[in-house]
Amino acid sequence: MSDIAIEFRGVVKRYGSATAVAGIDLSIAKGELVTFLGPSGCGKTTSLRLIAGLELPSEGQVFIAGRDVSRAPASERNVGMVFQSYALFPHMSVLENVAYGPAIRGTRRSEAHARALEILDQVGLAGLQDRLPAELSGGQQQRVAVARAIVQQPDVILFDEPLSNVDAKLRRKVREEIRALQRRFGLTAVYVTHDQEEALAVSDRIVVMDRGTIAQVGTPADLYERPETPFIADFIGDANLIEGEVLKGQFSAPGIHLDIGGQSGKATLSIRPERILLSRGGSDHVLSATYLGSRMEYVIAAQAGEILVSRSIAEPRFQVGESVSLVISSKDAFRVA
Ligand code: ATP
Repeated sequence: MSDIAIEFRGVVKRYGSATAVAGIDLSIAKGELVTFLGPSGCGKTTSLRLIAGLELPSEGQVFIAGRDVSRAPASERNVGMVFQSYALFPHMSVLENVAYGPAIRGTRRSEAHARALEILDQVGLAGLQDRLPAELSGGQQQRVAVARAIVQQPDVILFDEPLSNVDAKLRRKVREEIRALQRRFGLTAVYVTHDQEEALAVSDRIVVMDRGTIAQVGTPADLYERPETPFIADFIGDANLIEGEVLKGQFSAPGIHLDIGGQSGKATLSIRPERILLSRGGSDHVLSATYLGSRMEYVIAAQAGEILVSRSIAEPRFQVGESVSLVISSKDAFRVA
């Protein structure tokens, strides 16, 4: 048996003259949580809908559990979905909501109820089965939506921006619950969000999309620490993108010289704000100093341009106008172009 749960082969989706997905190749392993992340309009929702069967590809193929489902309607794919609006039936109890899927697929009512109760217990909702959705918190409603998807034992579960309707304060908790349930049940999950922190927090791997194509695929640490393009560096977290030139392995930009190795020629380095140290005195100066509670953020007017620097609250502070110099280690600089 193959370990691949979902595969895209050369998938293209066009709407008239607009191309939403412009040729995607991707394999998702069983038990993996993969997130599609990217700016508005990059094609992440369309990619999710192509797995669900809510859209059919214009070109290429989609495989689920080894079966070519490219032309199969949604009803013939064993895929569960959790939407941002939960889409719970408001007039049905929690129990009826979860038992609904098995019941319409012909499971006896008593058995559907027994299965629903078991799943509700597993997602931490035991005792709430007789409530209506409106009588639950946002986080609890989200768990009902997850329970309703997993009671069907899907090959794949899809999450479409599942936290958009959850109170900002609850989001961290709910995303941890989703991740814990996905791990506990060994579910293969595909998750769509435009929030990079959420993607870093929940994913085994992240697929960053840009204008219908895959810009980079990797673990959260791969993307944050080893971005391959300026777009990725800038999209995942904050990055200083510094343009210069490499000659004999030495990168040079005005006021910045780093031994990075590699090919000679024009180069762009990505350096994270928290990787830059500041020392007192020098030819650069502090343009702004912002207190953010957990850290200080400085904008430094350097010869190479404005540089964002993030430092711990515990370190000595710098004042606006103060002369400083940047201390950058070559191991913290990544060539992204
Ligand atoms: P968002 O975060 O804004 O939802 P997205 O990354 O999910 O964006 P998609 O919804 O996949 O993006 O859309 C990708 C592109 O395809 C967009 O340019 C969009 O306008 C276009 N598109 C999506 N659905 C349709 C449709 N039914 N008809 C025509 N164009 C569409």
